[in-house]
Amino acid sequence: MLDLPAPFPDFAAGSVWLAGAGPGDPGLLTLLALHAIKSADHVIHDALVDKRILALVPAGTVTETMGKRGGRDSVRQADITDRLVDLARQGKKVLRLKGGDPFVFGRGPEEALALAQAGIAFRIVPGITAGIGGLAYAGIPVTSKETNATVAFITGHGPDGDIPDEVDWDCLAKGVQVLVFYMGLKHLDRLTARLLAAGRDPDEGAALVCDAATPRQSVLESTLAEIAPAARAAGLEPPALLVVGPVVALRRQLAWWAP
Ligand code: SAH
Repeated sequence: MLDLPAPFPDFAAGSVWLAGAGPGDPGLLTLLALHAIKSADHVIHDALVDKRILALVPAGTVTETMGKRGGRDSVRQADITDRLVDLARQGKKVLRLKGGDPFVFGRGPEEALALAQAGIAFRIVPGITAGIGGLAYAGIPVTSKETNATVAFITGHGPDGDIPDEVDWDCLAKGVQVLVFYMGLKHLDRLTARLLAAGRDPDEGAALVCDAATPRQSVLESTLAEIAPAARAAGLEPPALLVVGPVVALRRQLAWWAP
């Protein structure tokens, strides 16, 4: 495999590694995540992990899909954690592989807490989150010196599937220059309406980046007032990131990648 400067940590039998797979492009996997993919006995991945990354799993390693998609409860979270605990207790090297970063809107903390409570050894392997790396593949930096000193990452779904009600929309709209929404497509009308009601400029740049860093990547650039109807007209599907703010305009010069 790769010739690396330091030895990799041992993937101990009976332990679980919670690793991020990045937004899509296999080149965005970390070396540690690749090492985990090559060393695991059992891989349980969520629906967002790109199939080119799953193709790196050696033949003979058990691979299972367990994860939520578009807020739908395809599997109960408790079933996922039970399965991780169970496999670890059987002495397996268990890799829980998630899209992006496991600790960014990915239920990684819940899974790690369940492992901690069950007394199972675990390791966290951070990944490149879609809200940073995926936007970079669309030519949108989350900060630039000329445009913004602040950025916020927000989920478009609260725990009950509705828009999150613990968000102080006035504060967000007035205090943060760049807003990056995960899971924002379903409630796009309501999210943009909240921002407009809280005083955000309707002509401000907004973009939706779908399937970022994959061969299916598409970008819809519009304004805050127009993006929801434009997304509907285009029939966009998740996974998608919504970004609002002055960084969107930089894309005109920085869109370096076309799938
Ligand atoms: N842990 C993940 C986020 C999981 S939440 C991470 O760090 O990236 C799922 C949401 O992530 C999707 O609804 C979408 O908003 C975003 N997302 C993940 N991968 C994406 C991709 N390749 N393109 C666009 N959005 C993506």
